[in-house]
Amino acid sequence: MTHEDLFGAAPDGHWSAPGRVNLIGEHTDYNDGLVLPLALPHTARAAASRRPDRRLRLYSAGMPDGGTVDLDLDALAPGTVTGWAAYPAGVAWALREDGHQLGGLNVSYESDVPVGAGLSSSAALEVVTAVALDDLFGLGLAPTALARVAQRAERDFAGVPCGILDQMASACCTAGHVLRLDTRDLSMRQIPFSMALEGLRLLVIDTGVRHAHADGAYARRRAECEAGATALGVPALRDVPPEGLDDALARLPDATLRRRVRHVVTENDRVERVVALLDAGRARAIGPLLTAGHASLRDDFEVTCPELDLAVSASTAAGALGARMTGGGFGGSAIALVDADAAEATAGAVRNAFAAAGHHPPGIFEAIPAPGAGRLPV
Ligand code: ADP
Ligand code: MG
Repeated sequence: MTHEDLFGAAPDGHWSAPGRVNLIGEHTDYNDGLVLPLALPHTARAAASRRPDRRLRLYSAGMPDGGTVDLDLDALAPGTVTGWAAYPAGVAWALREDGHQLGGLNVSYESDVPVGAGLSSSAALEVVTAVALDDLFGLGLAPTALARVAQRAERDFAGVPCGILDQMASACCTAGHVLRLDTRDLSMRQIPFSMALEGLRLLVIDTGVRHAHADGAYARRRAECEAGATALGVPALRDVPPEGLDDALARLPDATLRRRVRHVVTENDRVERVVALLDAGRARAIGPLLTAGHASLRDDFEVTCPELDLAVSASTAAGALGARMTGGGFGGSAIALVDADAAEATAGAVRNAFAAAGHHPPGIFEAIPAPGAGRLPV
């Protein structure tokens, strides 16, 4: 159904926002640490038309139950909207909380970002809403401000604890680059990531295992990290330098906390090492850091699952330069850095390994660093 069929009005504009993969820097974003995402060619797209009243009417072609959600713009409050509409409605709520004047709106969405695959379909939905509202109501907000609004929509309105990685990636990534983002102050640098030049490809392996962040495991990891920082007397685990790790671990009485802290501190260091290699034009050399990051997430942070571990071990056994889970974990997707001429063979090896283990066939595609959110030409 077109926007006009749904709402009886032609859209005032079209906007898009991408999903993302994180090259490295996992579970660091709520520890004030570093992340290194790239935007996917997969996007959420919104068409929107202003309404003369104060209703917010939302429709998503991705929701099989269909139908539009009809909300009162002035009655939006955390907990009042359930289901998928909480993400876009939360954006309107967060903007209104900041004192911005919004009017009524019809918004229809479509998205090809796989849902629940750790590729940030939720952030794509929020960020596309944020850029559309910013544009339509002339708010003049910078991409970073829109990402913060989108994060508050997910965290404070929809009630899903999340860091800022996904929303910043969707709002701020640029084509052909990975984004080095410092989540403490949101300072960022675009780093050329032209795999084609180096004869490389980055594969995304969607295991099909659907994670549920809200189930508490994610919240527990966050709490453990906070407990670690408190025990060590630092504002955040980001403040433990890699050379101070042994010392820090010796001061933690709890073995679980020690492993959690070790993951965050070593992961932050791995981001810096990957950045240094990319800056030196040595993308081929980052593979072992990716694979070490996965081992850390598996053994120390304990957020992988058998399918993610198999995606990584099968890729590396087939000759991938490196591989790791990406996103929050407990399912979702892995990435594998491969020589371009080995991409097919690696994908085949992963499919075979999944079949042999009795897992559902994985979805495998190539990640080409794509642009961040913005208005689409008509
Ligand atoms: P991820 O962001 O990794 O894909 P999440 O669990 O964070 O997984 O977000 C998935 C949720 O986002 C879905 O359950 C749905 O509520 C919402 N969502 C994502 N894409 C769409 C879409 N195209 N239409 C409606 N809701 C969507
Ligand atoms: Mg999400």
